[in-house]
Amino acid sequence: MKRIFITAGHHNRDSGAVGNGYQENKLTQELRGLITAKLREIACLNIWNDNDDDTLAQVIAKINQVATADDFLLEIHFDSAERAAASGATALIATGARDKSRDFAKQLANDVATIVGITNRGVKDETESNRGRLGILHTKASSCLLEIAFISNPNDMARYQIYKESLALAIATTIRDTLAKY
Ligand SMILES: [Zn+2]
Repeated sequence: MKRIFITAGHHNRDSGAVGNGYQENKLTQELRGLITAKLREIACLNIWNDNDDDTLAQVIAKINQVATADDFLLEIHFDSAERAAASGATALIATGARDKSRDFAKQLANDVATIVGITNRGVKDETESNRGRLGILHTKASSCLLEIAFISNPNDMARYQIYKESLALAIATTIRDTLAKY
């Protein structure tokens, strides 16, 4: 049975970005929980969540033990910039990603932009990210690293807080439909 990996960027000993009173690892863990709960309500799928005490390397190693090319993976992050006006949702995929990863990523960025009401920064190659290469995008699963909104932008975060439940349902629906399609 196809699996969906839903993982929260950063872990208990790595806050990730901070801003506007928020800590990225707490935001990613919360949204992973919301999406997972919605997905359990609307579909019967094999869902895999990461453990927040594991480092990124440990999470990737565990995924590599079980992932196949039929699986999908969504890793959740929040973006951050020096410029407080920077805004919007970005979906990152691996260099040379399969078409189904690109399709999944495009739909996810669209979900966030539409529901939260922020700019759609679109699907970008990992080489356009700060780190250049994103290890989580290189398991066997078709993968997207979704930067939901900018933690550094007060408007992005205010809108996210209002719409996060609806967003979780939209993302869960995209996951269900994507796994059914491929
Ligand atoms: Zn992050």
